[in-house]
Amino acid sequence: MSDPMNVLAPEHRRLRIGDAWRDAASGATFVVEDPATGKTIAEVADADVVDGLAALDAASKAMAEWAATPPRKRSELLTATYRALTERSEEVARLITLEMGKPLAEARGEVAYGAEFFRWFAEEAVRVEGRYNTAPAGGYRILTVPKPVGPCVFVTPWNFPLAMGARKIAPALAAGCTTITKPAAQTPLTMLFLARIMEEVGVPPGVVNVVTTERAGEVVSALLADRRTRKLSFTGSTEVGRVLLRQAADNVLRTSMELGGNAALIVCADADLDVALDGAMVAKMRNIGESCIAANRIYVEEPVREEFTARFAKRMGALSVGHGLDDGVDVGALIDEASVTKIDELVADAVNRGARVLVGGERPDGPGHFYPPTVLVDVPEDARMLEAEIFGPVAPIISFTSDDEVMAKANDTEHGLVGYVFTRDLQRALRFTEGLETGMVGINRGLISDPSAPFGGVKQSGIGKEGSHEGILEYLDVTYAAIDLP
Ligand code: NAP
Repeated sequence: MSDPMNVLAPEHRRLRIGDAWRDAASGATFVVEDPATGKTIAEVADADVVDGLAALDAASKAMAEWAATPPRKRSELLTATYRALTERSEEVARLITLEMGKPLAEARGEVAYGAEFFRWFAEEAVRVEGRYNTAPAGGYRILTVPKPVGPCVFVTPWNFPLAMGARKIAPALAAGCTTITKPAAQTPLTMLFLARIMEEVGVPPGVVNVVTTERAGEVVSALLADRRTRKLSFTGSTEVGRVLLRQAADNVLRTSMELGGNAALIVCADADLDVALDGAMVAKMRNIGESCIAANRIYVEEPVREEFTARFAKRMGALSVGHGLDDGVDVGALIDEASVTKIDELVADAVNRGARVLVGGERPDGPGHFYPPTVLVDVPEDARMLEAEIFGPVAPIISFTSDDEVMAKANDTEHGLVGYVFTRDLQRALRFTEGLETGMVGINRGLISDPSAPFGGVKQSGIGKEGSHEGILEYLDVTYAAIDLP
């Protein structure tokens, strides 16, 4: 197979600003590594504030014309992006795997998921509507006019290098906004490739700008402080989200915040255990566990604890670990050494407090950032991994005996992104859906991500929704006109 880097020519490993692909004004660059080998795979431009503001100049200049572009035309450009991504799926997937580490099959899944945002919002672009009605007391009419919010700043994480950007860029463009995306420093290549694809299909200059940088703090601060920026959409940790919310407040920006999670996955004794096992494997191991919606705590009702645990541990132990580009690999490399160390420490902490390791639990020697699929039982309530986001292939199993008890434990966290419930009892499922303090619930399903569904959290997992019809509303303001008509 050819080198996955061949798809992104050296001239496109630079900043995408307006109609240009250009170096950072300072000439600085930084390296991108393959997390499975630790080897350098590319060098990209390292933007500073000057470059960030140049991207905002471009986005601001392009704003009026893009907003005035007929919705059908905008829609067609989004459809063309969907088609191009789908046709080039294999190239994009290999690039994702190379810079992020996930197995190729998962990367292909991410391309399909990411591309679908463009198709979905191509369909939404032509369905933005206002209202016209008579004021209740009569005498005048009320007209609502949806308008694009304006230039948007996007900050995205490394765990889904395509999809997390697609989820923002597609609705923004559909609504008529222009964009500046700052991808994670560890995975900038996929976003540059997306910008290249969007240039090729004819998206006008200035509508999609991409600024790669290792100086996220200063570049993003400058963008958020500039009055021309009208919206921030951030996906990443709750910790950084809080910092950016404070900065956004100074400029009273519209914000969408997709932050961290601490999902409880609840297996009731009446569940179909085959379904629960499939669901738990997906919810835990999709994306090597490096997902905001990963099952972080698996609660199993006492009567089925033994059987579920034995079968789950067997499946976890059978997964193969290796370079994501190699055939047959289920579990690729984690993003970096810090991630492996953090997970190792969480496992050691749980074991020190009395947990038992059934599978895995020992980091391997050798290059690359690997950690084996790991299952822990008898995990005490004070184990740090029940509070922290594990973000890796480690599954703590905890037993429960009543719905009230497990509901209280599931909700005992600052996070509120998603919960999973496995039961054949409809009323029980609905009680959990109503009682879980989360933005999303998977019922007898471990996979809930879908561009046509509103994705987002409550509590400290975020603000706003991505995907679905709600997704485009995040990029629209409403002007109301009072029209005198006695
Ligand atoms: P992160 O450390 O918060 O980084 C996310 C992005 O923010 C990166 O682009 C990062 O740039 C940038 N950043 C970091 N510090 C910044 C600052 N002071 N000012 C401006 N930007 C800053 O998160 P991550 O480790 O990449 O991603 C994992 C986290 O994302 C997890 O907590 C996960 O749950 C969350 N996540 C949430 C969702 C959701 O939809 N709710 C989806 C996916 C992931 P650098 O790369 O240069 O540091």
